[in-house]
Amino acid sequence: MIKFIRVDMSSKSAKTEECPAQYAGLAGRGLTSLFVAGEVKPTCHPLGKNNKLIFAPGFLSGTTAANSGRLSCGAKSPLTGGIKESNTGGTFSQKMAKLGIKAVVFEGLPADDKYYVIKIDADGVSFDEAPAETLGGMGNYDVVKVLQAKYGADVGVAVIGVAGEMKLTGANISFADPDGNIRSAGRGGLGAVMGSKKIKAVVIDDAGGPGVTIADQETFKGAAKRFAKALTTHPVTSQGLPQYGTNVLVNILNEAGGLPTKNFRSGRNAWANNIGGETMAATIKERGGKTTHGCHKGCIIRCSQHYMDKDGKYLTSGFEYETIWALGADAAIDDLDAIAHADREFDEVGVDSIETSVAVSVAMEAGIIPWGDAKAALDLIGQIRKGTPLGRILGSGAGAVGQMYGLTRVPVVKNQAIPAYDPRAVKGVGLTYATTPMGADHTAGYAVATNILRVGGFVDPLKKEGQVELSRNLQIATAAVDSTGMCLFIAFAILDIPDGFNALVDMINAQYGLSLTADDVTELGKTIIRAELDFNRRAGFTKADDRLPEFFEEPCPPHNTTWDFTDEEIDSVLNF
Ligand code: SF4
Repeated sequence: MIKFIRVDMSSKSAKTEECPAQYAGLAGRGLTSLFVAGEVKPTCHPLGKNNKLIFAPGFLSGTTAANSGRLSCGAKSPLTGGIKESNTGGTFSQKMAKLGIKAVVFEGLPADDKYYVIKIDADGVSFDEAPAETLGGMGNYDVVKVLQAKYGADVGVAVIGVAGEMKLTGANISFADPDGNIRSAGRGGLGAVMGSKKIKAVVIDDAGGPGVTIADQETFKGAAKRFAKALTTHPVTSQGLPQYGTNVLVNILNEAGGLPTKNFRSGRNAWANNIGGETMAATIKERGGKTTHGCHKGCIIRCSQHYMDKDGKYLTSGFEYETIWALGADAAIDDLDAIAHADREFDEVGVDSIETSVAVSVAMEAGIIPWGDAKAALDLIGQIRKGTPLGRILGSGAGAVGQMYGLTRVPVVKNQAIPAYDPRAVKGVGLTYATTPMGADHTAGYAVATNILRVGGFVDPLKKEGQVELSRNLQIATAAVDSTGMCLFIAFAILDIPDGFNALVDMINAQYGLSLTADDVTELGKTIIRAELDFNRRAGFTKADDRLPEFFEEPCPPHNTTWDFTDEEIDSVLNF
């Protein structure tokens, strides 16, 4: 039986059913988005009784396929008001797959005011009151320890921090990685949805589970080998990411003039190397940390790391380019250690590190703290855990800070913070920010690959030509990849190495006994995006929501390019 579990928080009951027929051919983002589009009322309050939160592993999760352990989480977003899929590493996805669970859905609101831990194992679902000490401010690292001490050292954990308890729109859902450290389904405020349902944590134990069935083992093994070969051959997945993490991009984007600096006033700065991947890797080595590390078992790219403090003590992992960019370049904090402390605090309180870091830059724009002041930034971030009014505003994202302080220079689309690539200097990703149903999200169609890294061909980042097609094709392909359980970074290899892509399709076919073609994969991506767009339209979104803020009409040094797409051009991106 492929299980579809519905947890009703209003009655504290759970129902395990055979996966409904309409969801049988879906997984990952395809499942979360078609479920939300089909079962969540688009006009519901995201924190109200009618919103539903869904976790779904991908098609290949739980298998031996490299990098296949990602989990999709979906709901109506409290941050954007639209549909949301947020994707994470950690151990949860593989454990769900090994228990034969296609999805778990959390619905309804409890009448009482207690927080709960929901346990899922081979026997079913049970409800416990959350341990009192985990509530009201304990950091997520310690909460994971408390829960693993109680439920088993090897259980998977999904948890909200104090930001989720406060239902802040920047709250994320944190997941334990194989070392008990934190990974996050970061974007869109899904931690607030979990908090509204009074779910402090979900723990999952796959002991005694049926495991994953593979229809054609031999073919699967062969395809998995070919797929792994593509990842270990491509320079980005075999060298750049394992050596320097995603932070390899700081110096690359600075060189390209696309590294937004001081709230998007310039695309280049003089201090980038101090916060770049090369400096970070040297610092980690000097302090005895790990420069390469996987966020789940079976990751062979290993872009994560263990960043240590000055005393050689573990500080943070999954220390991503986007966070380092936002505090290091956009907020002008020239201090990698200070940024690492901020990253740790984001994980501890459970907020999206991109959203909150951009909110810090906007706070500097508002004059709340000075540009580049690391101590003031850390104090401000510390206010989230204390739940002060300013901390709550910061934890509600860049748009909230901008609105409270009457600013117009607020880098958001659909109220979600624009990440680490200036749309005037990397135009393809600008179109993705504008049009993806997710709100500004580079991962929804990572045109940086082709604009800057020359992966999958080359489209000049400073010109409009070719960008509409690039963003469209990448958004469609990404929606499909997000359904496989694969880390998105595999895209670098499969865009350049055709057999890598073929091997991916072959693995899915061998696992399920199917005969999908590349066209079927494209069609799946289109179906997902159509459903997401339809949800947003029914939630009240119009074309006017697919626009970048007006300040991008200003020239961006050093290239002095502007955001110059017409409305018609923007509207043609997802017009399929
Ligand atoms: S490459 Fe990085 S993000 Fe992707 S699965 Fe591995 S550690 Fe996680």
